[in-house]
Amino acid sequence: MTARTILIIGAGIGGLTTALAFARNGDDVDIVEQAPSLSEVGAGLQVSPNASRILIALGLGDALRQAMITPHEIVLASGRSLRKITHVPCGAFAADRWGAPYGVMHRADLQTMLLDAVLAHPRCRLHLDQRATSSEIAGLPDRLGLSRPDLVIGADGVWSEVRRLVPGASSPRFSGQVAWRFKVKTEETRRALNPTNVTAFLGPRTHLVAYPLEQGKTINIVAITRGSDPGKTWAERENPAARMELLSAFSDWHPDLVSILRQAPEMTWWPLFEVPDGRWHAAGGPVLVGDAAHAMTPFAAQGAAMAIEDGFELAQACARAPGDLASTLEAYVTNRRARIGRARSRGAFNQFAYHARGPIRLGRDLVLALKSPESLAAELDWLYGYRANGL
Ligand SMILES: Cc1cc2nc3c(=O)[nH]c(=O)nc-3n(C[C@H](O)[C@H](O)[C@H](O)COP(=O)(O)OP(=O)(O)OC[C@H]3O[C@@H](n4cnc5c(N)ncnc54)[C@H](O)[C@@H]3O)c2cc1C
Repeated sequence: MTARTILIIGAGIGGLTTALAFARNGDDVDIVEQAPSLSEVGAGLQVSPNASRILIALGLGDALRQAMITPHEIVLASGRSLRKITHVPCGAFAADRWGAPYGVMHRADLQTMLLDAVLAHPRCRLHLDQRATSSEIAGLPDRLGLSRPDLVIGADGVWSEVRRLVPGASSPRFSGQVAWRFKVKTEETRRALNPTNVTAFLGPRTHLVAYPLEQGKTINIVAITRGSDPGKTWAERENPAARMELLSAFSDWHPDLVSILRQAPEMTWWPLFEVPDGRWHAAGGPVLVGDAAHAMTPFAAQGAAMAIEDGFELAQACARAPGDLASTLEAYVTNRRARIGRARSRGAFNQFAYHARGPIRLGRDLVLALKSPESLAAELDWLYGYRANGL
């Protein structure tokens, strides 16, 4: 098979995974990234088995094992009383059931392990500090002295420039939800938070997810509630008005959780944008992966996992059909669209259930309490047990 030349715009989790997957199949890959260095923004990330399976297949198993913490349980609890509503076992149960580990880790660690693998791969070249604009992507290879690509891949996130080259692509829209992210020292949260679990505390129109990072020394917290549209932005430092809004949204929560929010060190504030269903590719390319194609709210914690699946599946599809790129991309997108639609629906369902109020909340708690952890796990088989390209 003749090696293809691939040009990837964006070196986030999606772009770096895509680069490794193509390089592993013998293709030559250039990655163009606007940032002068890859210092990761954000805090923690849940890495579900559908994603960890791919990272392991790409040779990152050892690095993953070192960086990832495997929680004992994924717990749903009341944000007002801290009462446990239900749980899904994790650890060995998850690894046995879904064939790969479920873990939590610092995003920076995931990005660094991907970056190290890309930099070590003889077929990958990373070009930092190079912002691509839609009007000059065609001229980018000449400007940077690169070979002319057979395929351009847009992995440039929610505000993608490559997406402008895809007729019929959707534009990002504000979801109405904002997330605050921060870390606290574990010893300061012991009364409210169990550092061995991923816990989602649920409240009317709000929820808060907490899980350990850094060998359990810190707890990563993501608090999500409604907010107003800030316009085109990604993550921002909080300001005093935003902190007041947060405290007011969580004011009737358990005092221990309110106190954690009140005393939290500086938080980052993330307006949550989605890219609704639209076209992801033009005939023969470019093709979009990850948030550039289908950014979703983090209610199912699947955005990065889907970007990882995209990159791997796209590389496999191209390797299996070395000839006609147009029909390969068409088949790839058709296949991925069904899965992304299901992951999105799961996120919407979680949002409805997590933020429920009044009688719906009571009904939710009753239904969840009646289900066995085993049956809750079974509802996730299609998501976590997924084997991209038969892995
Ligand atoms: C609060 C929150 C919690 C989350 N939690 C989880 C979780 O637990 N699990 C999970 O799986 N997902 C989670 N996600 C989703 C996940 O973070 C994203 O889906 C994922 O990071 C998308 O990766 P990406 O590579 O597609 O895009 P990005 O991470 O946005 O990367 C895009 C890259 O492209 C570069 N770029 C952009 N424009 C250009 C340009 N014009 N030229 C060159 N380079 C460019 C950027 O600098 C960046 O490096 C969460 C998201 C949020 C907001």
